[in-house]
Amino acid sequence: MKRALNFNAGPAALPEPVLRKAQEDWLNISNTGMSVMELSHRSKPYEEIHNGAISLLKQLLNVSDDYEVLFLQGGASLQFSMVPMNLLTTGKRGYYALTGTWSEKALKEAEKIGDSGIAASSRESNYSFIPSVEDITYENDAAYVHLTSNNTIYGTQWSDFPKLKDVPVIADMSSDILSKEINVNDFGLIYAGAQKNLGPSGVTVVIIRKDLIQENKQLPTMLSYYTHAKNNSLYNTPPTLAIYLLSLVLEWAKDQGGIKSIEETNFNKAKLIYDAIDMSNGFYKGHALKESRSKMNVTFTLPDEQATQAFLKRAKEEGFVGLAGHRSVGGCRASIYNAVPLSHCEQLASFMKDFLASY
Ligand SMILES: *Cc1c(COP(=O)(O)O)cnc(C)c1O
Repeated sequence: MKRALNFNAGPAALPEPVLRKAQEDWLNISNTGMSVMELSHRSKPYEEIHNGAISLLKQLLNVSDDYEVLFLQGGASLQFSMVPMNLLTTGKRGYYALTGTWSEKALKEAEKIGDSGIAASSRESNYSFIPSVEDITYENDAAYVHLTSNNTIYGTQWSDFPKLKDVPVIADMSSDILSKEINVNDFGLIYAGAQKNLGPSGVTVVIIRKDLIQENKQLPTMLSYYTHAKNNSLYNTPPTLAIYLLSLVLEWAKDQGGIKSIEETNFNKAKLIYDAIDMSNGFYKGHALKESRSKMNVTFTLPDEQATQAFLKRAKEEGFVGLAGHRSVGGCRASIYNAVPLSHCEQLASFMKDFLASY
């Protein structure tokens, strides 16, 4: 069996040891004679997995007891709605930093719920950069400031975050959570669909500061953070298989030496590919401005459509998967999340050099 050189944007590569462990557990987890999918979500073996994942995530990201970790469904996309439903109270405004498609979508949902404003934007430049933290603006009616920490489609990433005293910062970290050290205390709420850096699709992680969890009887029960926080994310049947796989990914991250060492590897992985771009004499062009480059999604274009198609065709023959760019940027995109090994990035960088030499 040959594993693909997987550069998919999401769902994306999972660590091979995680898949092997899942295979080992498949028919008989924790000596129950059942697969994880067949366990009651109220049973002790499942509870151990569930609570183990919560505490390991807290440990890896250094989450204090001021925060609650929730495992929800509906993807990051449902958080676009749940954030304003729960936090955007009457008379207040949700301010959004627009840095790409996902932040636009988040704003669009907020507009359905209440009042909103723009905190910053790089829309005019086809989202090729991240606004500076100093340029974030909001009025004193702000319920929160929302940003997208990594722009999966455009390949840009915030390198530092606003530290606001009175207004909670909300971050969609779907495509870079667990990829680098962050200070959770800078945020009121962090959310992430799991399928990029945390596991399979089907579970969404929410890290919310406890003072932001308020009971609101008007809200549908399932859409209230209060419900899920009060019930340890077991109000209804959680996505048990996805949470189990998430727990294995977290174990793997710990085995890698934790976030600090994952961050170093990610730096080296990204450097390999950006160097291939920068040393190509303009044959490959990065979409993102250098200071805003993402270490998770490397976006680049080739001189013309013909070259792009030839590149993608040859890449496919060599076993590379997922390199076609998103239609809003064009060209190519290499998604190099935590689970993509350094060796795959080396192979891609050397393929890029060979292709340039031969084209
Ligand atoms: C993939 C992605 C989403 C959408 O996630 P779903 O789980 O499919 O809803 C939202 N935001 C960002 C930054 C993403 O990368």
